[in-house]
Amino acid sequence: MVSIIGAGITGLVLGEYLQWADIPFRIHEASDRIGGRLHTLESDGFLLENGPSFLDLDDNLFGFLERIGLSNQMIHAYAGARKKFFVRENGTQPLPEGIISVLLGNYFSGKAKEMIWNERFKQGNWVQRESVEAFCRRRFGEEVTRQALLPLLEVQFAGNGGELLLEEAFPQLARFEKDYGSVRKGWSRTRHANRHRGRISFPKGLQQLTDTLGERLQGHIELNCPLTSLGFGERIELKFGDRVEHPSAVVLALPAHELGKMPRSSFPEVAEGMSQVNYASLAVVHTALNRSQIKHPLNGQGLWFPHTEDGPAFHTIFSSSLFPQQAPSGKVLLTSYVSGIRQPEWLEMSDAELGKKVLTALEPLGLSGDPLFQQITRQPAAIPQYDSAILASRVWLRKMELKRIYLGGNWLGGISVSNCVQRARDIAEKIIGRRPAN
Ligand SMILES: Cc1cc2nc3c(=O)[nH]c(=O)nc-3n(C[C@H](O)[C@H](O)[C@H](O)COP(=O)(O)OP(=O)(O)OC[C@H]3O[C@@H](n4cnc5c(N)ncnc54)[C@H](O)[C@@H]3O)c2cc1C
Repeated sequence: MVSIIGAGITGLVLGEYLQWADIPFRIHEASDRIGGRLHTLESDGFLLENGPSFLDLDDNLFGFLERIGLSNQMIHAYAGARKKFFVRENGTQPLPEGIISVLLGNYFSGKAKEMIWNERFKQGNWVQRESVEAFCRRRFGEEVTRQALLPLLEVQFAGNGGELLLEEAFPQLARFEKDYGSVRKGWSRTRHANRHRGRISFPKGLQQLTDTLGERLQGHIELNCPLTSLGFGERIELKFGDRVEHPSAVVLALPAHELGKMPRSSFPEVAEGMSQVNYASLAVVHTALNRSQIKHPLNGQGLWFPHTEDGPAFHTIFSSSLFPQQAPSGKVLLTSYVSGIRQPEWLEMSDAELGKKVLTALEPLGLSGDPLFQQITRQPAAIPQYDSAILASRVWLRKMELKRIYLGGNWLGGISVSNCVQRARDIAEKIIGRRPAN
């Protein structure tokens, strides 16, 4: 029997693969619901995503969705969704897409355009353990880093680009430089590598994915069943309160800090390593408005702020533009993600104060009047930071796998849902002994 700990996307996808391979398994979930970070709520006809707002489709994810019968339910984000608006002195301006618009447009200064053009010809000069911020500055210079790259990259981790390690957080960028000599060259040669691309959701929001998996795995999931202790001497020992189990293998598909909290007697160094992993807390602020209350056409993915010392450090997705079914007709939904790493003081505010701060920062969109409602969810320790502290947790991976203890979860191998699906598949392959078919 394989025990999977945690019924987030990683644990559920793994369960699906083990079920396919006829390997007996059980999923133990601490809370009273499955899905982990994927959490969609309905309110007054709006679909509110409290976790991820969309999935980045790739061939692996598509294959998985096809296998569980969800590929024909996918809703692709509307075609203009690639456009990203930035707050500028006179309101908002879209970031130019493609080199021609960069060179012909007025978003960047002449010097910055020259840096972007020359990046293609700049020698790769690989630096170990380089931060995301240092890498961007080295390749593209100060202006492009602050006015575009850093805000776009940081929000993915709700983190600080000065701390995030490039090779851990954005390995594809590191590979572009190593393998192709430049980010621009690597990007243009690999951007069509996946046949299935784009941003997607489902008619009932992203939770439809985990709900579908929950139905398929009925009878295999135990809710309200937190793992309280893990031991691995002669054999694996799991404790769920007073109950003790000895599975043949265990997959820990839960946040690193949850493992760090466990009694340390049988694995002190591992638990210590896990407890060192840094996490960003964040607040998700949904703002619902009548369409007439907002001047901006909202014809893009969302709004970002340039990276400054004292400016707002959050970004806002135009949720109802990406997926119109997420708001009733004539209304709009904006979803803002406020980082507790770059802006800890914002997370200390009351809901009323935080809601107001977000509305003030969104003024460049031309808002008027009070919103229909704002809904705020605070998420402590929500996103692992791929900084130097995370490296220690990797040391134990191989050692634990030799004892048939597999580490899953979003602090290894990427934080996106697509990354979690891929990691679950990799672990399934190790347990089954062959690659599971999609
Ligand atoms: C606000 C936010 C926005 C995001 N936006 C995006 C996005 O737009 N696109 C994207 O692709 N990704 C996004 N992500 C990232 C992505 O959602 C997560 O990385 C992914 O869902 C994590 O899945 P997981 O299964 O690894 O962990 P989790 O979802 O954290 O699941 C872990 C499970 O383990 C359970 N658990 C914890 N302790 C125990 C215990 N002791 N015993 C048993 N069970 C336990 C928890 O209750 C939980 O159900 C976002 C994340 C957040 C927080």
